[in-house]
Amino acid sequence: MVVARGVHKRFGQLEVLRGIDLDVRAGEVVVMLGPSGSGKSTFLRCINHLEQIDAGSIHVGGRLIGHRVSGSRVHHLRPREVTRQRRDIGMVFQHFNLFPHQTVLGNVMEAPVGVLRVPKAEAKKTALALLERVGLSDKAGAYPRQLSGGQQQRVAIARALAMRPKLMLFDEPTSALDPELVGEVLGTMRDLARDGLTMIVVTHEVGFAKEVADRVVFMDGGRVLESGSPQDVLDRPSNPRTRAFLSRFL
Ligand code: ATP
Ligand code: MG
Repeated sequence: MVVARGVHKRFGQLEVLRGIDLDVRAGEVVVMLGPSGSGKSTFLRCINHLEQIDAGSIHVGGRLIGHRVSGSRVHHLRPREVTRQRRDIGMVFQHFNLFPHQTVLGNVMEAPVGVLRVPKAEAKKTALALLERVGLSDKAGAYPRQLSGGQQQRVAIARALAMRPKLMLFDEPTSALDPELVGEVLGTMRDLARDGLTMIVVTHEVGFAKEVADRVVFMDGGRVLESGSPQDVLDRPSNPRTRAFLSRFL
């Protein structure tokens, strides 16, 4: 589903990604962790072309991100084509940017109706089913400010799912939440994983990684230092930097 090869990204003089290789198969859940500034968010942003990479390639669902290949020639996508490519990739951030003046239902229906031109009645039906999936059927008519942080984040997840993404990217989805609200969001994500959604999750929730991840990737200094099963990476890390990093969480 995702094939990244030799991905390099720099901001001015700063080389943020120094050759990232990553393979994520359909239905797999990959958890990425690593110190602040190691390039995790930048890498996720490159996957859905919010950042343009300087070298290497990223394929999602067989398509070269940001480019169109015709014969032996490779063209940069135009903005409209990028937008279309991005539709297949859902992203959930630390801060859930829900539309404050729309209800929960309105938030989840917005993109399918506005972008995919799904008829309203159908979009509503799908949105209600998604709200049920994230455990918020009873909040369809509420406004974001009337919800807890954990509930808002679950609406953000439902909103992303409404576009029927092939791949979901999560960038520290629980790190802005009060500790008692973290569990409900992780629980929702675990359910999605069990339903077979392909996910890349940046999180420092080691418990979630152990329970849900098929693979854990440790990043440092713009490189993947270690990648393997949760047991290998989290319980028996072979790299000293991974060990030092994890000792802070255990
Ligand atoms: P954290 O755990 O703190 O979220 P991260 O691993 O997600 O860290 P990134 O946000 O990817 O790290 O940032 C990697 C490096 O790239 C940092 O040094 C950051 O300052 C730099 N950086 C990120 N975005 C930009 C930008 N738009 N312009 C310049 N530098 C940037
Ligand atoms: Mg980050």
